[in-house]
Amino acid sequence: MDSVIDPLPRAAQAQGPQGFDYLIVGAGFAGSVMAERLASQLGAKVLVVDKRPHLGGNAHDQHDDAGLLVHPYGPHIFHTNSAEIFDYLSQFTAWRPYQHRVLASVEGQLLPIPINLDTVNRLYGMHLSAPEMGRFLESVAERRETLATSEDVVVAKVGRDLYNKFFRGYTRKQWGLDPSELDASVTARVPTRTNRDDRYFEDSFQAMPAQGYTRLFERLLAHPNIHLMLQTDYREVAPLLPWRHMVYTGPIDAFFDHRHGRLPYRSLAFRHETLPQAQFQPVGTVNFPNDYAYTRVTEFKHLTGQQHAWTSVVYEYPRDEGAPYYPVPRAENAQLYRRYEAEAETLDQVTFVGRLATYRYYNMDQVVGQALATFRRLAKAHRSVMERPLALGAQGLRAAVMR
Ligand code: FAD
Ligand code: UDP
Repeated sequence: MDSVIDPLPRAAQAQGPQGFDYLIVGAGFAGSVMAERLASQLGAKVLVVDKRPHLGGNAHDQHDDAGLLVHPYGPHIFHTNSAEIFDYLSQFTAWRPYQHRVLASVEGQLLPIPINLDTVNRLYGMHLSAPEMGRFLESVAERRETLATSEDVVVAKVGRDLYNKFFRGYTRKQWGLDPSELDASVTARVPTRTNRDDRYFEDSFQAMPAQGYTRLFERLLAHPNIHLMLQTDYREVAPLLPWRHMVYTGPIDAFFDHRHGRLPYRSLAFRHETLPQAQFQPVGTVNFPNDYAYTRVTEFKHLTGQQHAWTSVVYEYPRDEGAPYYPVPRAENAQLYRRYEAEAETLDQVTFVGRLATYRYYNMDQVVGQALATFRRLAKAHRSVMERPLALGAQGLRAAVMR
């Protein structure tokens, strides 16, 4: 892998007389997995550009001034049910087993979320058994013909009171929308349990990269055929360097200059604090559904297992403006996305992959899975890609953007 910031003349040199076979926009999970596969499996020459000064996209991690490993873009916990995805990433990192636990601050108590037997017993001062909790939930659940929205899916399972205390406020803060205005899939990410399992995720693989995400990305991109340019918008280099095919992992509406209107993304402001104490809170994350402008506080040492006399935490403040972090799952946005997707499908020389490029609320493992599947499709077309004249990429891009 080349040095962190690479000026255009060095890229021009690195491309050699043949140019780059693939220009990859974005060095997050989507772009890095695509680059690794294309270089290692097909021997392709790959240029990865990212406008940020670092690898990893939103999964980037780094040490703060006190030497604590933190996630500048909010807490990232790896979990998956796919052995294929876990094994693939295991080529590039060792793992530290970690099971994430979250408490919600509700009515002066810190209670387990996802809602479980202890949540209900402690909130209401009851002593229910697991079967009794099942019957209790049935008695409070609201009947719904269809589970269309994020409100439906919760009230149909746990009823109005638990919905109001754990979901309504958090969701309104996080998305700036009422749960009734969001797809069911958003709150459906959080299960309900009648047992005492207090893990946030139930996936069969739950672990953190032992030396952090950034190290994992360095290893993914450490192939001699991969050339990296950071702090570079692809629009600066795509018209200047010869390439055959582009893999784009940024926001899809930005690629098309928002010609059908802006796709809504939810953003966050992060407040990082380093504190002169060994521990700040009892678990990795504490959620604040009903108080404060922030949604949650995460203490990184729980996630990383780092031993240190001090600790670092991050507060997340949701907002509309700022870097696009979350696609907003609701019907009207899916409809607008489909207009961009239809245009994307007409472009033979550009492949769209990743959370922002396919406007899907995907976790890291899903993005890796999507990239591996996309690579398999692209590999079938590789021969015809290699037959394309090098200049075609830049011309195609101009045609796509200026249409
Ligand atoms: P990104 O990481 O966004 O990478 C896209 C890259 O493209 C960026 O680096 C960007 O700079 C670059 N780019 C965009 N436009 C251009 C341009 N014009 N020129 C050059 N470069 C460009 N997932 C989990 O599995 N577990 C978690 O605990 C978890 N927590 C999360 C917490 C937060 C606060 C957020 C926001 C996300 C979380 N995720 C989590 C989701 C995870 O971040 C994503 O699934 C994953 O990082 C997406 O990877 P990606 O490559 O698709 O996109
Ligand atoms: N959610 C909630 N209360 C909580 C936790 C989650 O209402 O205590 C809702 C909220 O709408 C959130 C969604 O469930 O955006 C998904 O939660 P998750 O923790 O998966 O969000 P992410 O980690 O992706 O921000």
